Amino acid sequence: MQVYLDNSATTRPYDEVIDLMAENMRSNFGNPSSLHSLGFSAEKSLKKARMQLAGLMKVDEHDVYFNSCGSEANNTAIFGAVNARKKEGNKIITSKIEHPCVLEPMKSLERQGYNVVYLDVDEKGLISLSQLENELDENTILISIMAANNEIGTVQPIAEIGRLKTEFNKKRNKRLFFHTDAVQALAKLEIPVNDVDLMTVSAHKIHAPKGVGALYIKEGISVQPFILGGGQEKGFRSGTENMPGIVGFGKAAEIASVNMKSRVANMLELRSFLIEGIKSNIKDIKINGADESNFDFVAGSCLPSILNISFLGTRAEVLLHTLEQSEIYVSTGSACSSHKKQKSHVLTAIGAKDKGIESAIRFSLSEFNTQEQIEFVVEKLTQAVAKMRKLGSFR
Ligand code: PLP
Repeated sequence: MQVYLDNSATTRPYDEVIDLMAENMRSNFGNPSSLHSLGFSAEKSLKKARMQLAGLMKVDEHDVYFNSCGSEANNTAIFGAVNARKKEGNKIITSKIEHPCVLEPMKSLERQGYNVVYLDVDEKGLISLSQLENELDENTILISIMAANNEIGTVQPIAEIGRLKTEFNKKRNKRLFFHTDAVQALAKLEIPVNDVDLMTVSAHKIHAPKGVGALYIKEGISVQPFILGGGQEKGFRSGTENMPGIVGFGKAAEIASVNMKSRVANMLELRSFLIEGIKSNIKDIKINGADESNFDFVAGSCLPSILNISFLGTRAEVLLHTLEQSEIYVSTGSACSSHKKQKSHVLTAIGAKDKGIESAIRFSLSEFNTQEQIEFVVEKLTQAVAKMRKLGSFR
């Protein structure tokens, strides 16, 4: 039995998405900018995909700009917003547990002389609203806080951050922007978008293809474009649109919008089942991040899809490859940080000790997982952990 539990790294595309993409390449291959009927047909598909995605994001479709990935959207939001606002201040607020495609642009801005404040998080991975409030000042031009974390699943108080920003702007007559990276939250949470100005999403985390993303830019928010050229996406993101990818993204968004609550409830049930199975069979474990028992559909403290656990006295990489022999696919942290072989900055920020970090496995679920699969995982995991501990492979 193959069990894929690395859905935060990427997801298997829906069959309907694959079919639609193939059909798009076969018979609807026009360029949406062309003036003939094939171009017109492509433009119609582009419009439909934008509406489908906007429907899932709960935003106006005119404010959704397609691009190549979540990383591009985050880079564009950060550099674009800062470049548009640099005369008004040089302070940016983010958190210590953002994805590298937020943290690296922040480091680059620091090298350019910007003052970047990295908010602390508590042991669950939550930022402190009072620390954020204390940091807001006349010089602050951007807040960038992720909606949900990719390693531990913690969901940040996006509605409250947005409200703080809006009140601050009203009181001080300022135009501070709030960006959120919602790559992991999309299709798992109803993201409270009211006071959000910029929001990043990515197709391959919601059962659509890799290489497509989008940035929501609320009407009236000025952001300098990153890629200049033919003026696609209302001049905001030039380059001929990745039409197969975009129609796939739209289709996946449409599917995700249907019965979202029951899909999420199922995922959450499996996650609890996995936790219970692990807790009752394996000693000396530590759940990293948000509390599993405290999920709320609108402002949950954890994603229904992510579970990060340290199996003390083992080494995660060895555990990962042992599970792989049984066709169980998990991750030792985020897919990106595993290339760099660095200690997880997220686990470090929540105060995990070295032994916890080195033995941490991220299980990330999707709607394709079943209870039978989870039972199989618990069985194999129990054996693998017991064997490693017996061999003393780590001690
Ligand atoms: N932000 C978060 C929270 C992510 O988990 C990821 C990918 O893992 C990204 C951004 C980057 O998205 P993409 O892979 O589409 O560049």
